[in-house]
Amino acid sequence: MDDCLFCKIAGKDLDAEIVHESESVVAFRDINPAAPTHVLVVPRRHVGSAAELGTSDGDLLGEMFEVMTDVARSAGIEGGFRIVTNIGEDAGQSVHHLHFHVLGGRPMGWPPG
Ligand code: AMP
Repeated sequence: MDDCLFCKIAGKDLDAEIVHESESVVAFRDINPAAPTHVLVVPRRHVGSAAELGTSDGDLLGEMFEVMTDVARSAGIEGGFRIVTNIGEDAGQSVHHLHFHVLGGRPMGWPPG
């Protein structure tokens, strides 16, 4: 999608601090980190949110979850980290391209705000 921020990052049309990339998945540091480790994991292909996923996306999701665990391990937070995805504006989704936040490095409260 031409006007999608994360499509632009995935396509290298916009700079980001990329920490991992493959044919299907890109991970980069959040520009406004909410925790000492805050990485976003996105599919290269445009998917609007997790609400658009289905059984045919199993391989993609499996890879994304492997990447998230690798990100956590590389950051030394594998002992406790949080994966978040916001769906829709009421939940706080501001970028309408599927992304999982990987957050850690500080105590996490529950329930989230
Ligand atoms: P959400 O509010 O769940 O849609 O999350 C979007 C996230 O994207 C926020 O945490 C933003 O800080 C982050 N973000 C926005 N623009 C950029 C950018 N250019 N590079 C990296 N992260 C970004």
